[in-house]
Amino acid sequence: MDGTLTTKKLDDTICIFNEASQNGPQVDAYLVTGTKRAVLIDTLQAETSLYARVKDLCSLPLDVLLTHGHWDHAGVSTKDFIAAGCDVYIDERDIPILTPDLKSAAYKPLRDGMIFDLGGYRLETISVPGHTPGSAVFLEREKQHLYTGDAIGAGVYWMHIPNTLSLRELQRSLKRLHEKVKNLDQLLIHPGHRNQAPVQLHHDFLLDTILATNKIISGEWVGKDKVTRLSSGIDVPCKTISYNLIRDYCYNPNNI
Ligand SMILES: [Zn+2]
Repeated sequence: MDGTLTTKKLDDTICIFNEASQNGPQVDAYLVTGTKRAVLIDTLQAETSLYARVKDLCSLPLDVLLTHGHWDHAGVSTKDFIAAGCDVYIDERDIPILTPDLKSAAYKPLRDGMIFDLGGYRLETISVPGHTPGSAVFLEREKQHLYTGDAIGAGVYWMHIPNTLSLRELQRSLKRLHEKVKNLDQLLIHPGHRNQAPVQLHHDFLLDTILATNKIISGEWVGKDKVTRLSSGIDVPCKTISYNLIRDYCYNPNNI
């Protein structure tokens, strides 16, 4: 799907790939390079030129890290990276939600605490079950970079669709994530849908997500009724609240 992919260098280490497909949301993947290795975090959705574009920019040994199994993050080009001999990591709990053509591919199991040392840039894997059972984020502690996929949303947050866990399970995950990053006061959050957030997200965005989750669970906040349409065309009712940069936190009132 050429013509919908743009690349932008954030700095010498990070390149953002943005896919603005007509048939799905805008989505971002991140090429992160160290001195010895590189990783690609997520593989966009329908874009087929991603492997070639990554190889144009980077000749280092490359692994692929999938933040979760949804089709707009584990995209069609996942197969190209596997065919080229790259290791593709995903939490095994998310393999059942991959698109059918990707389910049987060979993956490396992504686990909480797993470290990817790129040389001068070290990513720690933190499991954040909630949006999906196998959602994971990647933290560079020294530089305070956190790659989150959909695990904490980006202003729009879907916690009401098939396979999402309960809000209480999400609450436990967020509390644990916060424990790991609470001393990082310059935290830069890199989500999977940058267009949904009008500004660079920082630590306070994570705190707002935690606060909103707690308030919904306690019953202090009750969202407005809404219906969302999935990519499959199915309509799913939910409730939604907004707070600061969180403009559309969708949840299932029957799965608190
Ligand atoms: Zn998702």
